Amino acid sequence: MAKPITQFICGQCGTVHKKWIGRCDGCGEWNTIVEEAPLSAGPAKSGLGAGKGRKMALMDLASQEAPPPRHPSGLAELDRVLGGGLVPASALLLGGDPGIGKSTLLLQAAASFAAKGLSVIYVSGEEASAQVRMRAQRLGLGAAPMALAAETNLRDIVTTLDETRPDLVIIDSIQTMWLDTVDSAPGSVSQVRAAAHELVTFAKRRGVSVILVGHVTKDGQIAGPRVVEHMVDCVLYFEGERGHQFRILRSVKNRFGPAGEIGVFEMTGAGLSEVANPSALFLSENETASPGSAVFAGIEGTRPVLVEIQALVAPSPLGQPRRAVVGWDSARLAMILAVLEARVGIAFAGLDVYLNIAGGLRITEPAADLAVAAALLSAREDAALPQGSVIFGELSLSGALRPVAQAENRLKEAQKLGFSTVIAPEGCNFGSVGGVTLMQMADMTRFVGDIFGAG
Ligand SMILES: [Zn+2]
Repeated sequence: MAKPITQFICGQCGTVHKKWIGRCDGCGEWNTIVEEAPLSAGPAKSGLGAGKGRKMALMDLASQEAPPPRHPSGLAELDRVLGGGLVPASALLLGGDPGIGKSTLLLQAAASFAAKGLSVIYVSGEEASAQVRMRAQRLGLGAAPMALAAETNLRDIVTTLDETRPDLVIIDSIQTMWLDTVDSAPGSVSQVRAAAHELVTFAKRRGVSVILVGHVTKDGQIAGPRVVEHMVDCVLYFEGERGHQFRILRSVKNRFGPAGEIGVFEMTGAGLSEVANPSALFLSENETASPGSAVFAGIEGTRPVLVEIQALVAPSPLGQPRRAVVGWDSARLAMILAVLEARVGIAFAGLDVYLNIAGGLRITEPAADLAVAAALLSAREDAALPQGSVIFGELSLSGALRPVAQAENRLKEAQKLGFSTVIAPEGCNFGSVGGVTLMQMADMTRFVGDIFGAG
């Protein structure tokens, strides 16, 4: 029999390498590659098929299937991200930095599901039951009818679950679980994958919803949540800056609903509270427009969100000026600076540029280009943008402005929050505009001329 060959797996992204290297080809992280035995070689000879197996049911494309039933939690922000509620027989991964509030969120969710009549089991591999109970009491959930366990041995967990048959199981966290059939340490890629596979199979077999908690790790020795993303039906990330009290729950994959949806929470002394109107939260309080600040009308998932973009431009003492970005892509910032220099003739050479998205939000939409350019220009010219204006539009390398989708929703959100002017590219479909001044322009030169005056 051939000796199983050891392989080298990246703990961040799960890429398999033939030999050890310092930097992963898959994700570019350093020192994340660890040596591990392969999961299992499988049966040596004798292929599958021809007898033994069961015949599977085949159906055509016209067959009608009822949409999956859903259990709403009653927490509107969570239900929105889930696409309407929890689907039975599904596996969900909740990733996030340690200490960001994943356990708090899940305890609150578990209590709401339990209050709706679902039987819920919370398995903690991180804390003792007493600690989980204390946290629940601190959150005012002491009376919630849910079951707790502190366990890391997956054989014992699955045995218990097979007997108890709950509706929802929460595993906190997948990195602490271990299978006695896998010959490597808990937290390794092999263990995390095998444990996740076991739990996902259990979810499908028994029609139970399983939520796996995965800590985003910086250390290469512990596998990150990305190595199990492909196994689960739904991947949620809980994000937020440590210094901010706001947390964003974002779905990056959802087989039962739209991906890219966000839910916004605020961390308070009594746990997480829902933020129904996130736009108000990402805008700064002062009413008067100040130089370097632009309000962007973005779309997060299916809902419009207004965000303040702040820029600071200052003479640089360094040979190579500083470019610092929080909440946005630094490559995209470099592109916008290049377009402004090459197409409009406004150079940022010799100037430090700082860009910040207020409230700890992370924006990935290209539709923010124009708002970022506006904030940069406003900071450089030390001239405020028109009072009460929101901005959106994509910038192409030629300096032309490209129309963006859902312009009407962006405009309505701006109107709702009392903004009077919308600055957008030509060709956006706004539908009916009432009570809002619309400034539409074809390219960046027009924008600079109209907003800052030619010169
Ligand atoms: Zn990698």
